[in-house]
Amino acid sequence: MYLNMTLPGLESFRVIEAREEKGFFHIHIERPRDWTPCPACQTLTQKVHDYRWQKIKHNRLFNRPTLIWYRKRRYQCHHRTCRKRFDEPNQLVDRYQRHSIEFNQALGLETIHGKTFKDTAQRFGVSPTTVMRRFDEISEPLLTTTQQLPSIIAIDDFKGDMDGERFQTIVTDPIKREPIDILKDRQKTTVYNYLKDHADTVKVVVMDMSPSYKAAVDQALNQPIIVADRFHFVRYIYWALDRVRRRVQNVFDDYDRKKCKRMRHVFMKQADMLSAKQAWYLHHYCDKSDLLTDAYLLKEWFNDWFDNAKKQGPNALNAIKQGMYQFYDTVRASEIPEFEKAIETLQNWQKEIMNSFAYNLHNGYVEGINNQTKVIKRQAFGFRRFDRMRRKVLLHHKYKEIQGQMA
Ligand SMILES: [Zn+2]
Repeated sequence: MYLNMTLPGLESFRVIEAREEKGFFHIHIERPRDWTPCPACQTLTQKVHDYRWQKIKHNRLFNRPTLIWYRKRRYQCHHRTCRKRFDEPNQLVDRYQRHSIEFNQALGLETIHGKTFKDTAQRFGVSPTTVMRRFDEISEPLLTTTQQLPSIIAIDDFKGDMDGERFQTIVTDPIKREPIDILKDRQKTTVYNYLKDHADTVKVVVMDMSPSYKAAVDQALNQPIIVADRFHFVRYIYWALDRVRRRVQNVFDDYDRKKCKRMRHVFMKQADMLSAKQAWYLHHYCDKSDLLTDAYLLKEWFNDWFDNAKKQGPNALNAIKQGMYQFYDTVRASEIPEFEKAIETLQNWQKEIMNSFAYNLHNGYVEGINNQTKVIKRQAFGFRRFDRMRRKVLLHHKYKEIQGQMA
């Protein structure tokens, strides 16, 4: 009995039987017999050699996992000297596959934007190993196409804990604000090897103040412009203030030492953002120590300079630079060792810090990317392997972009 219906993906087949059994939807199908060219000599034939049943897993139909029983026909070539036996051509399933082409496509898409391999495995009724293998097959070719680097890139490290390395390096695009690649660790040689083939294209690199990244970039690229990330160099001043605060509170009595430590955020926060209570504590502890007051004022001084520099940007480079020199002088006059140490670092990166205002570039967005990576990793099943995690994170962002364009 032939059923008079067409099913998605099965339009060119005849449904011989369809039934539900134990929650599965079973469909028996075959193709109409037809004149078919022999793959060896192109002679048309419709001489049937034999039939074989092939069991194929297909996309869910009528909300049930679906098994297709395909009565696959083999033809034999008419040609006297050829006589080749061959399978009839079909769009449903590739040779030696147990899953239909449509099933594999849907599963592949799901491995990229689905949450976890385990979850995808459950929804498709296959093993996590099958999901992982499918992900490997589909993700590798998708990523080999993006080899060319843009002229501006950013390099950061993040704690990925993969393949026995605590930190990985993430290469991103500061203009598009998306990841370009993830490197297995943060060693100088790893970054150097990655960059050295791109000396012609990459002109500008945004980075934190890591000497090993700087050495790698300097040696791999041809006279690169290095931009120190502004969120990183500002931190050196905040760290200096925090060290002074710890040194000062150590001579306070037990109560004030603990309280001052608990209220440490009032020193970090911008003065005009403090609540009345926070401002009270700030003044209370600054009143107890001239050193803490001086350190706090240095931080505020630097903050004002920084805010102005961000606003003025490329048009006021000279004024920005003069302001920085004044800050260095003020720090030296204060003779606070924590700050003297901090400006030593800033002076070593003077050119790169100025570049951050000249080019108005930073990598603050990378934190957002890293947070998403952490989420992917937390939900991960099988992402302890570095290469798989790398592909999952990069495709996650790539897929999002495609979605955004369609919306
Ligand atoms: Zn033939």
